[in-house]
Amino acid sequence: MQSFVYQCPTEMVFGKDAELKTAEEIKKYGGSRVLILYGGGSAERSGLIDRIGSVLQRGGLAFKKMGGVHPNPRLSFAREACACAQAFSADFVLAVGGGSVIDTAKAVAIGLAHPGKDIWDFWTRKEPVTGAYPVGVVLTIPAAGSESSDSAVLTDEESKRKRGLNTDFNRPRFAVLNPELTYTLPRFQLSCGITDMLMHTLDRYFTIDRNNQLTDELAEAVMRVIIRNGRVAHCDQTNYDAMSELMWCGSISHNNLTGLGNEKDFSVHQLGHELSAMFDVAHGASLSAVWDSWANYVMPSAPERFARYAEKVWGVSGGDTAEKAKSGIMLTVRFFRSLDMPTCFSELRGVGIQPDDVLHKLASNCMYDGARTVGTFCKLDIPAAYRIYQNANY
Ligand code: NAP
Ligand code: FE
Repeated sequence: MQSFVYQCPTEMVFGKDAELKTAEEIKKYGGSRVLILYGGGSAERSGLIDRIGSVLQRGGLAFKKMGGVHPNPRLSFAREACACAQAFSADFVLAVGGGSVIDTAKAVAIGLAHPGKDIWDFWTRKEPVTGAYPVGVVLTIPAAGSESSDSAVLTDEESKRKRGLNTDFNRPRFAVLNPELTYTLPRFQLSCGITDMLMHTLDRYFTIDRNNQLTDELAEAVMRVIIRNGRVAHCDQTNYDAMSELMWCGSISHNNLTGLGNEKDFSVHQLGHELSAMFDVAHGASLSAVWDSWANYVMPSAPERFARYAEKVWGVSGGDTAEKAKSGIMLTVRFFRSLDMPTCFSELRGVGIQPDDVLHKLASNCMYDGARTVGTFCKLDIPAAYRIYQNANY
């Protein structure tokens, strides 16, 4: 068994009406003046923001609301939100929304703990993170898993760079998960979320040094549950049980339980991030658009791993190793299509088929202009990333 350290300190409060516990959770973690962050309006329209306001008021907490977080959250907004939190003397940040709102809340929390420093310097590793104010989450979309992850992703819209920052200071103190809050999701966003959570486990599953049996079998079970319930929710997104399973899988898929002892790969995420940075496409769609091309590129380096994936996750039984491996890829792509997700550039809204120089730019950006490679399962450099983008460019 490979060694690992596992710590996932976020308290998960799951179930119907869970958001009614928000004030007591905030107080438990020392909050008294709360900045409530939310997105472009869905949480206002559903009445959730007002409900949370009432819960906090009844709990005797002072709060200020700030909406306007954009999907693929922007650095400039995070800076504004941080200034707003400072002016309000906030001691707690509450994210009401999905990954974009939560990641902005994490950025604000880091900014509050380092007055006078620019947030982006932490994302570019110029400054070390030495602390963060507490963050709580009321989740409205099962997807990113940011509600219990150590990660936060921001986009600098000026340089068009999308960067993640991993630190244990990014772990929210608590997350409220009420599946009923997801019923208003547009179908496309639900599909993006299903894709993203599946990819968080896939990006851990396809890795080297994998001989932790429980890690592998947990990952396979999580993927089967996502696929089964993703199909149900795609047809009926007010199905409480399906949404419940998805919401829990979304968190489990990115708190590292499905990757313990593995060297995370995450190439598909890095390839997708560059598409989102350049074209502002939805995160989940950026992943499904390159997965097929990535999988076919790396599969020859470890076909037996793809064959195991096909057997355990998709129930493929016939054929030799290579045939099983190909079937697993084909069934995954078919699943994305059944969710109406793009599996190549021409299907990716706002992108389409790209000229060669753009593919080179994407590949170069992904490798920080040659300063890094990505992936562990199969290390990718600029030519490899270029080839993967090229094979998805139809
Ligand atoms: P999101 O970007 O937070 O939200 C996507 C869209 O869904 C928004 O337009 C939002 O509308 C809408 N929405 C959310 N909940 C809704 C609801 N209940 N009803 C109706 N509409 C709703 O989605 P996400 O997929 O959770 O987050 C994606 C971001 O997280 C990307 O930037 C990605 O890179 C990042 N990410 C972070 C991590 C991490 O661990 N930190 C991991 C993976 C991905 P409104 O704006 O109007 O609310
Ligand atoms: Fe993701």
